Amino acid sequence: MADQVLEEVVIVGASLAGLRAAEALRDDGFDGSITMVGAETHLPYDRPPLSKKVLSGEWEPERSALRRPEEFEKLDLRLRLGVRATSLDPATRQVTLDDGDPITYDGLVIATGAAVRRLPNQPELDGVFSLRTLDDSIALGRALRSGSPRVVVVGAGFIGAEVASTAKGLGCEVAVVEMLPVPLVRGLGEEMGSACAALHRDNGVDLRLGVGIASIEGTDRVEAVRLTDGTEIPADVVVVGVGVAPTTDWLEGSGLELRDGVVCGADLAAGPPGVFAAGDVARWHNGLFGEEMRVEHWTNASEQGAHAGHNLMAWAGRKEGPTTPYDAVPFFWSDQYGLRIQFLGRASDGDEVRVVHGSVEDRAFVAMYGNGGRLRGVLGLSRPRLVMGYHRLLASGATWDDALAHAAATE
Ligand SMILES: Cc1cc2nc3c(=O)[nH]c(=O)nc-3n(C[C@H](O)[C@H](O)[C@H](O)COP(=O)(O)OP(=O)(O)OC[C@H]3O[C@@H](n4cnc5c(N)ncnc54)[C@H](O)[C@@H]3O)c2cc1C
Repeated sequence: MADQVLEEVVIVGASLAGLRAAEALRDDGFDGSITMVGAETHLPYDRPPLSKKVLSGEWEPERSALRRPEEFEKLDLRLRLGVRATSLDPATRQVTLDDGDPITYDGLVIATGAAVRRLPNQPELDGVFSLRTLDDSIALGRALRSGSPRVVVVGAGFIGAEVASTAKGLGCEVAVVEMLPVPLVRGLGEEMGSACAALHRDNGVDLRLGVGIASIEGTDRVEAVRLTDGTEIPADVVVVGVGVAPTTDWLEGSGLELRDGVVCGADLAAGPPGVFAAGDVARWHNGLFGEEMRVEHWTNASEQGAHAGHNLMAWAGRKEGPTTPYDAVPFFWSDQYGLRIQFLGRASDGDEVRVVHGSVEDRAFVAMYGNGGRLRGVLGLSRPRLVMGYHRLLASGATWDDALAHAAATE
């Protein structure tokens, strides 16, 4: 393919994936213009501390910055912060911004991540919070640290669980309400979802499972949460942690395929020439697992952002070789009640789950997930070194038997 013009790159989304894309472009020697558009006013910052050390007050919010100011300067970006992209026209290669100023690109990286979902009947009351942004974390942290509020967390996913853990650590009375009978069942399966849920109860959190939210009560401030089983939990602070949706609203009408994210090829190309997507917003075919997926975790956003940047250079013929598929082992960690949960790979319905090191009762174990004779995932609680030892196996498509042999040979 003939080389493509690549002088103007636009990155929409000034967070982890967007930053890593910019860094990859500069690492590959791209000396053209990079405009980074970000709806938030902050320089790119890290989200994991927002439910952990920033939320608890242990870290000043500034510590969550992803890079030092001088490191940004070196990237020589045209930063458009506090500005939202409102539409994309691939025919004219233009991105329209909410300040009315369209920008033209030769290459575009879509890195608009995800935004929190709300409850259908969520009221606008003081004391009701979501947690996605630094500003959310600062506001919620203040509320958790003033007095000893009674906290109700709606949703026992990873963010909800981390908020519960941090609030408990701050001495709050905490209840967690989860509609599913087993939390995290989609990500971890029933048995391991239950094992993680046990951590709440171990730590004195009132965990209500298999029940929904009928309403959040209060006049100016929140006063209680009413559950669908008729019970009421008094609350000074309610944190709604019912998941996120990929931010694709601005791409409606662009012709890009949107299906729970921006649908990309294996190399993260989103369809029109020079358009790539990365991070929480991207849905791509992961050849290593033979399935299409969208991943909402830090390592994916970081590595995929860099991959999109490198592939943009390859697409333009500015880097040797063709674009390459992003075949990766998904990974996440979560810190709860002083313990580290890690998961490598992908869990699916019908997986065999086997604890191969330690025990669930001791809250220190490694469990393998397998399907069709192949190792598909590895979960660890308080066993970080052992878990990471399985990365190589997952990346090489190891069989279940190979993985069992590895487990037997390791401790
Ligand atoms: C509280 C919290 C704790 C977390 N903890 C962990 C953890 O422990 N481990 C882990 O693996 N992962 C964790 N994650 C997940 C991880 O932070 C995300 O996967 C990662 O931030 C995704 O990066 P991203 O760049 O794809 O998207 P995002 O970080 O969502 O950034 C997208 C950016 O794009 C901006 N944007 C959106 N639309 C537009 C638009 N139209 N125009 C301009 N800008 C726009 C948004 O404002 C946002 O700043 C956590 C997330 C949160 C919220």
